[in-house]
Amino acid sequence: MQTQPQASHFVDGQYLEDTAGDLIEVIYPATGEIIAKVHAATPAVIEAAIASGLRAQKEWAALSGTERGRVLRRAADIIRDRNHDLSVLETYDTGKPYSETICADATSAADALEYFGGLAGSLTGEHVQMGENWGYTIREPLGLCVGIGAWNYPTQIACWKGAPALACGNAMIFKPSETTPLSALKVAEILVEAGAPAGLFNVVQGMGAVGASLVTDPRVAKVSLTGSVGTGRKVYAAAAESIKHVTMELGGKSPLVIFDDADVEAAVGGAILGNFYSTGQVCSNGTRVFVQKGIKEAFLKRLSERLATAVIGDPMDEATNFGPMVSKRQRDIVLSYIEKGKAEGARLVAGGSAIEGNGFYIQPTVFADVTDDMTIAREEIFGPVMSVLDFDTEEEVIPRANDTEMGLSAGVFTRDLTRAHRVISQFEAGSCFINSYNDAPVELPFGGSGLSGVGRENSKAAINYYSQLKSVFVRMGEVESPF
Ligand code: NDP
Repeated sequence: MQTQPQASHFVDGQYLEDTAGDLIEVIYPATGEIIAKVHAATPAVIEAAIASGLRAQKEWAALSGTERGRVLRRAADIIRDRNHDLSVLETYDTGKPYSETICADATSAADALEYFGGLAGSLTGEHVQMGENWGYTIREPLGLCVGIGAWNYPTQIACWKGAPALACGNAMIFKPSETTPLSALKVAEILVEAGAPAGLFNVVQGMGAVGASLVTDPRVAKVSLTGSVGTGRKVYAAAAESIKHVTMELGGKSPLVIFDDADVEAAVGGAILGNFYSTGQVCSNGTRVFVQKGIKEAFLKRLSERLATAVIGDPMDEATNFGPMVSKRQRDIVLSYIEKGKAEGARLVAGGSAIEGNGFYIQPTVFADVTDDMTIAREEIFGPVMSVLDFDTEEEVIPRANDTEMGLSAGVFTRDLTRAHRVISQFEAGSCFINSYNDAPVELPFGGSGLSGVGRENSKAAINYYSQLKSVFVRMGEVESPF
């Protein structure tokens, strides 16, 4: 697998290089080795991306929805055919184990392209009759959209943003995280191969400054960011200068509530999925695991037993199911939170240390007896650190679960159906789970409330964030005017 891309950027249907841009070294998290080098976009690259995006958007919007959808579905098929190679690249880019990337990254990107490709032909406005007069709405694209991605799901994020944007007749410029710049280039390449006009989906590299210059450009109609709350504040404010449309997919500190009557095995599985998949680098993770006191010992015992079977190691080995953190920086951030957990009196029941070697490995870590005020229960850690908190009653746990300014996700494990729905209805969160955790099918909206963001990705709901309605009133009779 070749990791060095043909050039840093993909603009106007081809790879583009400008070595005047700052050098970005791509590091394989499992070994610390430099595996590729790209350059940040210069103003000339950004201008080429904007100019070709504007041109391609007009050409693309002139096609029928069915024609646009066909291109997206063809891209989905190509991605599925190349899933192995794309998954290997994603593993180099992120360090996530191949056993994960083969089933959760390119495949999820293909799902988005297939779903929105299927929807493109049925996007319509509506007819409204008002007596003899009537009106209609036209669903129009927004224009040139900018997508800015985080480093945990580079291929998926590019397509969760790109697929609905393109289905609606927009063009997109996508800026991946500087930490994981490789996979999105392949998405751009495949879209052209599938028949997308040159310039429709451009990828430019760079740090926050490149993202900022795209966000502030008056020719850009919409910005969709996946990133931290802090970056979200900056990007939202910058977009507000020219009243741009925004989607903000930001961080979380989500609760997972496990009642005494839950199936222990299922609840432990949910807690593992919601804390350790992708080495804990998932925005919607249920990192505050509230466990009712009657089930606590059984839960912790099975959790420890199952954690001991985690296969930590070479991400390319198909048996590995727990890889390194994406970067040394992120590993150090997580280690500092682990130290805070210890210092503030949480009881360490598993892990708690980095793993020796050149890679950025850290042990899957569990703290028990965590209280609501501890730093590890309040701040997003974005790593494999689970906090287990005790509770007695349903009435007590709901306000505690909701006691965060973020509101991305929430989950409940119980065998009592009525309670499950009652609890879910009280959660202040956008994406919720009953007897499961972290499922994100393209058919369901995904997004948060509170500081976790605005807007929704996936599902028919995403269409509203990549299109706008023009309404037309048609008078059939005389116009009555006052003079
Ligand atoms: P960051 O917020 O650091 O960065 C996100 C992206 O924004 C990067 O591409 C970054 O570029 C770019 N950026 C940074 N500053 C600016 C700016 N001023 N203007 C425009 N763009 C800018 O997030 P991470 O990459 O560290 O990702 C982790 C965060 O993402 C976590 O908080 C996580 O919860 C959240 N996330 C949310 C998801 C959701 O759907 N709700 C899903 C996945 C992650 P660069 O990094 O190259 O400087």
